[in-house]
Amino acid sequence: MRYVSTRGQAPVLDFEQAMLSGLARDGGLYLPETVPAFSGIEDLDGLPYEEVAFRVIRPFTGDSFSDADLRGAIERAYGRIEHSAKAPLNQLAPGHHLLELFHGPTLAFKDFAMQLIAQLFQIALKRSGQRITIVGATSGDTGSAAIEAFRGIDNVDVFIMFPHGRVSEVQRRQMTTPDAANVHALAVTGHFDDCQARLKDLFNDHDFRDGVGLAGVNSINWARVVAQIVYYFTAAASLGMRPTDFCVPTGNFGDIFAGSVARAMGVPIRRLIVATNQNDILHRALTGGEYRVGEVHPTISPSMDIQVSSNFERALYWAYGGDGSAIAQLMDELRTGGGFAISQGARHALQEQYLSGRVGEDETLAMIRTVREETGQILCPHSAVGVAVARQHVEPGVPMVTLATAHPAKFPDAVEKAVGIRPALPPHMAGLFDLPERVTRVDNDIEALKSLILERRAH
Ligand SMILES: *Cc1c(COP(=O)(O)O)cnc(C)c1O
Repeated sequence: MRYVSTRGQAPVLDFEQAMLSGLARDGGLYLPETVPAFSGIEDLDGLPYEEVAFRVIRPFTGDSFSDADLRGAIERAYGRIEHSAKAPLNQLAPGHHLLELFHGPTLAFKDFAMQLIAQLFQIALKRSGQRITIVGATSGDTGSAAIEAFRGIDNVDVFIMFPHGRVSEVQRRQMTTPDAANVHALAVTGHFDDCQARLKDLFNDHDFRDGVGLAGVNSINWARVVAQIVYYFTAAASLGMRPTDFCVPTGNFGDIFAGSVARAMGVPIRRLIVATNQNDILHRALTGGEYRVGEVHPTISPSMDIQVSSNFERALYWAYGGDGSAIAQLMDELRTGGGFAISQGARHALQEQYLSGRVGEDETLAMIRTVREETGQILCPHSAVGVAVARQHVEPGVPMVTLATAHPAKFPDAVEKAVGIRPALPPHMAGLFDLPERVTRVDNDIEALKSLILERRAH
């Protein structure tokens, strides 16, 4: 399997190389040259999650990992998810299902990808003897998942930037309490888009990048997208592979893009629905054709408080028929002018792939209350955004699956505001509030970050 950059100017890589590099050297994102068709889609129902994962991921990894290595990595990764189905499908109302992706060690869907790529990184680095430095930017959940997955792994130093004061206390503590020497939580003065911009600066500084062996595990890393394709297969298999709609609470467009790959592989996904909070650049782009960065508003669903949605570049690349120079030009306009207009043809292509909706704060709180009244279940605010948008689009006779992206206990303030209850942490996380925190404050400044990383990483 060969991987090409969305901007057409970076070397073509294999799976392992694309995974270890994260961002392409031309600033683009890696995508497989062609999406493999999946055979045997009717045979998946009733198989263990790990087996489906192996069959779905195998075509993407090519010669990078042996079957035994891939199976071992999958077993170890998903052994840490505290539900035997791993991604259980739970009926919310007739025809409307919740795909629960929050039973992993950090209580958000990010564990599905991060646990797996930590295992794959370990195999690859052991083989090559290479030492790398992972730097990540997070709006909360990616960072905690990365620190949890990579803590104590040999040959890796991990630095996670999060926006100071803009993540929930549970998210912060999940990043600041692990005591492994190879993980470092950095509280950056700024918001998530600042963290993400500094991360891109580090990658685009090729001397620094090569000097520290910089690797990225943000949702732009293709290996993460691959891991997220799997649960679209398991959910569709449980529903008998009927045409099904999926609604996905969306920020950086990774989770929903995995849905379009699943569809390209043959999963009968009828409509993919992008659900956003009031930070609605994706909803505006998909409905109006203009991708224009606005101001970031802090919301009760902070993992979606994003204006620059990185993985959208992959959807654009497909919508522009694989024209890397067109994408490079759009991204240039974005950088210099804060936005761009999507061509008529690409807009149509996107509208064939995606529907969208946005909900405000009051509606999100109201949806947490409504679902609690109707089912007794308590949703996290991100999942509530998804359910609210899904309800606007449910059609009789077509199953709707909404991705439940985090556990409500990760966002207790929002949940308490909605229903007056602070959901308890699951037993495996009960000690979180008693552990000492380790965190470094850093300015939103590339030079400050570079010297911090050089000083702290192991040599
Ligand atoms: C990361 C995250 C999202 C958004 O996912 P993307 O892949 O960035 O679109 C939604 N909900 C939660 C809880 C998250 O952690």
